[in-house]
Amino acid sequence: MAKRKILLCLAHMSGNEMKYIEEAFADNWVVPLGPNVNGFEADLEQFVGEGKHVVALSAGTAAVHLALIALGVGPGDEVICQSFTFCASCNPIKYLGATPVLVDSEPDTWNIDPELLDRAIADRIALTGKKPKAIVPVYLYGMPAKLREVMAVADKYGIPVVEDAAEGFGSRYAGHVCGTFGQYGVLSFNGNKMITTSGGGALICADAESKNQIMFYATQAREAYPYYQHEHIGYNYRMSNICAGIGRGQMTIAAEHIRHHQHIAALYKEAFANVPGITFHENPSPEFDSNYWLNTIVLSPDLKVKGEENAYSQTVSGAIGGAGSTVHAATSAHTACEPNTNVEAMRMALAAEGIESRPLWKPMHLQPVYADAPAYTNGVSENLFKTGLCLPSGPWVTDDDVAFIVDCIKQNIAQ
Ligand SMILES: *Cc1c(COP(=O)(O)O)cnc(C)c1O
Repeated sequence: MAKRKILLCLAHMSGNEMKYIEEAFADNWVVPLGPNVNGFEADLEQFVGEGKHVVALSAGTAAVHLALIALGVGPGDEVICQSFTFCASCNPIKYLGATPVLVDSEPDTWNIDPELLDRAIADRIALTGKKPKAIVPVYLYGMPAKLREVMAVADKYGIPVVEDAAEGFGSRYAGHVCGTFGQYGVLSFNGNKMITTSGGGALICADAESKNQIMFYATQAREAYPYYQHEHIGYNYRMSNICAGIGRGQMTIAAEHIRHHQHIAALYKEAFANVPGITFHENPSPEFDSNYWLNTIVLSPDLKVKGEENAYSQTVSGAIGGAGSTVHAATSAHTACEPNTNVEAMRMALAAEGIESRPLWKPMHLQPVYADAPAYTNGVSENLFKTGLCLPSGPWVTDDDVAFIVDCIKQNIAQ
């Protein structure tokens, strides 16, 4: 019997997605505007609340890019970005010819360290004579950052915040939805995120005027003339009406999906509570309400795992994981900074059982492509990268799957 693969996080089309797609086809609304785009934006505005306005876009990365454009980021500017993240938080800073300033995390939430942020800003002002143009905190695996402290630092210096809530859809901090604290909030609807539009994203804006400005840049910056008149450089970043139809369907089951991620988290938390050497990452206090997009554990460096001697014995090529694949083959089995051998051995042991797991994001300050970026580090994200592992989460993962995954992990601890 072929065993089912248990993947990290996979789209789950359990809403009425097809109804909206069929409507789009029936009415020939197959362009990047139309009733589904408007309807999806209205659904998102209701979901995030706080009187915010939302623009549906082609990707979360596009949302980061447009937020920075709206804040006037350009060549010669600096933008502060959480170092411990996926490259999409940071790359748009480079698209604009600006310099990312990378700031490390604190150990409770794994997100940007407010004290280090404060020090970094003071240092940049002293060094360059001007303030960074924006601050980009990230909500890794759904966990909110220490937003009260982060916003206090941002307010102290008067620097706008672009929240990268791509992984934090529906997470809450002090009762408010993540993405509604800063001047802009980024959402992603990629195939492996909390909800999907197959590919897409959105930008949460403070008011109708800033939504209008984002729409302008997302639709090739076209001026209001009968012919094509351009006075600014624009982008083709609007969401298609087909994708938005998927999004409307997904919104009907979004709350249910989030509850399922949180239910899986509770199962992992309980199961790992008395496993020495393994720590489940949970909300640090009741103020934090993670969506648990991905559940994560940390393996103590002294935990012995079966097969450690075979870790990193081969280079990786081809598809890695469920949604992502690589087209560049690795040229070596090792890089200058990699997860500990017990983590890699556990990943391989789980893969052999059809269970997908994945190391945590490799911090941007350890990425060769960002070697030149100024970085303010404290060792937290590097240590987490070396010891952490993401586990299967989401609507496809059953209670039995969690029991099986936990059992496999325990079986692979060497006595
Ligand atoms: C997924 C993700 C993005 C980008 O979203 P896309 O829709 O894939 O472009 C940005 N930031 C973080 C932290 C993400 O995980």
